[in-house]
Amino acid sequence: MADKFQSRPPIDVPIQCISGDNVPETFALPGLTVMRLTAKEQSWAQLAFQLGHELGHVYLGPLRANGFVETLATAISLEVLDELAKRWVIAPAIPGTSSWAENFAEYRVENEAIEIAKLPEIKASVAGKDWDLIRYYLRLRNRDMQQLTRVAVNCEEGRALEMLAAMSLRSGPVDWPQLVGFAHSSSIQPVNESYGNVVYARVRPDLVHPALCRMGLGCSSAFVAAELKERSSNGMRVYFQNTWYTVQEVDPKKALRTLNRLCKRRPCISSLIN
Ligand SMILES: [Zn+2]
Repeated sequence: MADKFQSRPPIDVPIQCISGDNVPETFALPGLTVMRLTAKEQSWAQLAFQLGHELGHVYLGPLRANGFVETLATAISLEVLDELAKRWVIAPAIPGTSSWAENFAEYRVENEAIEIAKLPEIKASVAGKDWDLIRYYLRLRNRDMQQLTRVAVNCEEGRALEMLAAMSLRSGPVDWPQLVGFAHSSSIQPVNESYGNVVYARVRPDLVHPALCRMGLGCSSAFVAAELKERSSNGMRVYFQNTWYTVQEVDPKKALRTLNRLCKRRPCISSLIN
């Protein structure tokens, strides 16, 4: 993790790992970060996945969370599994276990598949690596990506969206060192003395970040989506909740005009701009 982020975490205090039965979680206390993991016995790949995710929170800033922060922590855990698969072959941490290496990569693939299966409408796009369409889908579902409670972050659909967005983020290069402290610096609620429970807060609306746009956050373009009364043959279309949306990314200044134009040719049942 230190290699990946090339710096120390924003709250650089000792970490205590405890074993538990609930969901894995990280809490920052004054002078101590407590990390609860649930992987048991010899589930090494699961342990790496959980530890990677929770250490991700430590580097991103453990005092703030939301769906996008969870997505980043998940992306980090996927990175950890792939890195371990590469490194374990050459230098296994336990001598004589270099054959375990492939388990880490397999676990990553299996986990991705389990989560994506919960989003049948986007499954084919993931299989076809249609990352543009996946970005449109994530932008269309921006509200579902916010996840501003502990329940929303940990629910089945929330986790599936986090995985989809994490995969989308990893489809291109990521400047990890730039993301150290992201959860704190991007929060609309500035971080002060808020130790104890994680605070779920929105990301600042002015954030622009080209790489994060792959997970539907911080895009410099505006997103226009319209549910048309009659099916349109041109334009990119995204399927969500039994509905086809015609979508476009445009210059923010042209968003309203684009939507008006779209809904003029064929009447719109619903529309959104963000
Ligand atoms: Zn998390």
